Amino acid sequence: MPRESKAAREGRARQIVEALFQAHPDARCALDYGSAFELLCATILSAQCTDKMVNMVTPALFARYPDAVRLSEADDEDLQAIIRSTGFYKNKTKSLIGMARAVVADHGGEIPPRLEDLVKLPGVGRKTANVILGNAFAVPGLVVDTHVGRIASRLGLTKQTDAVKVEKELMELVPRDDWTQFSHAMIFHGRRVCDARKPHCDACTLRALCPYPSSAKHKPVTRKKSPAKRK
Ligand code: SF4
Repeated sequence: MPRESKAAREGRARQIVEALFQAHPDARCALDYGSAFELLCATILSAQCTDKMVNMVTPALFARYPDAVRLSEADDEDLQAIIRSTGFYKNKTKSLIGMARAVVADHGGEIPPRLEDLVKLPGVGRKTANVILGNAFAVPGLVVDTHVGRIASRLGLTKQTDAVKVEKELMELVPRDDWTQFSHAMIFHGRRVCDARKPHCDACTLRALCPYPSSAKHKPVTRKKSPAKRK
């Protein structure tokens, strides 16, 4: 692809956002939740696990631990038994209990609605924090997961491979009010059309806006910290 000016890239990005919204009007958070606390728990569990499996586990989790206070007092083995089928359950147990204790100690038991506070919680990185902001608090949050990173690279919206740098570049190209829905639409596009191994470029509504079918090699996005990091 010939070198693209900043203005041209910004214009193309706006067209991509519109095309994505038209292609996936039903895009939304696929995790079941009824509060910021529940969404935070579900998002921590979703690391290396399907949303479908998380949604099968969380009803029992939320019935047993309905808020941060109750979760902060959880017994490790009891919690592990409930979340075992989401994988990495020992790390996730530490993250969930650590998160709940920090929320109780530092925020009066309520999930904080600010990125800088969320990322200080055990088990919470920028990706998880942006999910919570965008979906539980209606504060725009741009989520860079494996789908968003891969598609942004294929679309030529970024040359970065680090998730935080990808997020920063996309934040400059996508209008702030669209960050949350753009993230949902990109994730749906990754699941439905722009497959990691075999993208369906012939059926893709973004094809005319995308340099990938005729060129580029894809570099996977890397993440410095595991979503299931612990303190
Ligand atoms: S044209 Fe192909 S590579 Fe580009 S977004 Fe569509 S499916 Fe993905």
